[in-house]
Amino acid sequence: MGMQQDVIIVGAGIIGLATAERLLKQGIKVLLLERGQVGKESSWAGGGILSPLMPWHYSETVTRLTQYSASLFSDWASTLHTATSIDPEYNQCGLFILPPYNLETAIHWCSKNETNIQQIRLPVPYSTNMTHINRKKIEQTIYLPEIAQIRNPRLLRALRQHVIQLGGQIVENCTVHGITIKQNKVQFLFSSCGRFVADNFIIAAGAWTKEVLGRYALGLDIRPICGQMLLFKFDTLPLQALLVKNGTYIIPRKDGHLLVGSTLEDKGFSKQITITARNKLLRDAITVLPQLHNMPIKNHWSGLRPASPQNIPTIGQHPDLANLYINSGHFRYGVTMAPASAKILVNEILGIAQPFDVTPYKAGWHEKEHFSHLCIS
Ligand SMILES: Cc1cc2nc3c(=O)[nH]c(=O)nc-3n(C[C@H](O)[C@H](O)[C@H](O)COP(=O)(O)OP(=O)(O)OC[C@H]3O[C@@H](n4cnc5c(N)ncnc54)[C@H](O)[C@@H]3O)c2cc1C
Repeated sequence: MGMQQDVIIVGAGIIGLATAERLLKQGIKVLLLERGQVGKESSWAGGGILSPLMPWHYSETVTRLTQYSASLFSDWASTLHTATSIDPEYNQCGLFILPPYNLETAIHWCSKNETNIQQIRLPVPYSTNMTHINRKKIEQTIYLPEIAQIRNPRLLRALRQHVIQLGGQIVENCTVHGITIKQNKVQFLFSSCGRFVADNFIIAAGAWTKEVLGRYALGLDIRPICGQMLLFKFDTLPLQALLVKNGTYIIPRKDGHLLVGSTLEDKGFSKQITITARNKLLRDAITVLPQLHNMPIKNHWSGLRPASPQNIPTIGQHPDLANLYINSGHFRYGVTMAPASAKILVNEILGIAQPFDVTPYKAGWHEKEHFSHLCIS
C-alpha cells in the first residue's frame, strides 16, 4: 500500500490521538495506525486521575508537564464534549491523601507550585458520607481540592470521533513491524497491512515503543509495567472525592461506579490478572472504605503502562533521523500529560514557540539503565 500523508502516527492511545487532534487543527493531514482497536490498551485501563498521586515525590520536570497539562484539561474536555456529544466527565472532585505522608514536604511543594492544600478536620467538605471512614485517619488527612479526574474510556471515544470529524484517518488491526531508513530519514514503515510513506512519522506506541523502533530506539528506556484495577458499582456513592493511601487509590465516578487501583508489576508484556493482586487491592481499599466489604467486584482488568525512569516521558525528534519523532514513556501519568505532550510535540514539528523549556523531555534517547529510579508512589 502506498499512501502519501503529511504525518503518520503509530499507536492510537491517548497520546497518539491527542497528537493527531492537535496536528489536524493545524491543518496537517494525519493517518493513525493502530495494532488493535483505538484506545483499548493502557489509556483505557487507567484511572483518569489528573495528577501524580503524591505530587511532591516527583522532579520539577514531571511537575511542570503535569501542572501545565492539567491546566489545559477543562477546556479540552468541554471542546470534545461540544464537538462529539460524548461527555468525558471532567470532574474537579479533589483528592484526599491519607497517611503516611510528610506534611512539611507536602505544604512546601504546594506553596511553591501554587496548589491549594487543606488539612481536613471533620466535617469533610465534598463528601456526604465520610463518617464511614476511620475517624482518626481523617483528622490527619490532606485534601487537594483542585485535583480533577476524567473518565478516560469516554475521553478516548470522544477523541476518536473528533479526530475523524477533523478529517483524520485511522487504520485499526494494523501492526507496524518496523521502520526502514535511507539517508538519515525514515523512508517507510512496514506493517501487517503493507508499507506506508509520509513526510513525518511519530511513534506513540506506549509500552511497545521500543519494539516499533527496533535498533533505532538508541538508549531509550521504556518498558511495560503492569497495573491491575478493580471496579465496583454503588447505588449511593460512599465517597465523592479521589482518595489515596500508600499507593492504593479509590476513584468514584458520577454514576456510582468506583475504581480501586493499582499494582506496579514488572513482568514483561503479560497482562495476566491475579487473585493475589485482587485480594491486596481489596484489603487495602476496605481499610479506608469499609463499605467495600462484601461488595461484588464488577470487573477486574489490567494495563501496561509505558514506564520510563523517573516518570519522565520522551517527547521530540529522534537525534539521528530527521523525520522521526516520538511521544511516549508517560508511565503512570499519560492521561494527565496528554494535552501538554501533544502540544509540545506539535510545536516542535511546526517550529512554534514552547510554553517552557522542553529539553528535559529529549534526554530519554540517551538514557542508560537507570531503572532503580522507578518511582512507585
Ligand atoms: C492501571 C492503570 C492506572 C492508571 N491510572 C492513571 C491515572 O489515574 N492518571 C493518569 O494520568 N494515567 C494513568 N495511567 C497511565 C496512563 O494510562 C498511560 O500513561 C497512558 O495511557 C499512556 O498512553 P499511550 O497512548 O502512550 O499508551 P497506550 O494507551 O498503551 O497506547 C499505545 C497504543 O499503541 C498501539 N501499538 C503498540 N504497538 C503497536 C504497533 N506495533 N503497531 C501499531 N500500533 C501499536 C497499542 O495497541 C496501543 O493502542 C494508568 C495506567 C494503568 C495501567
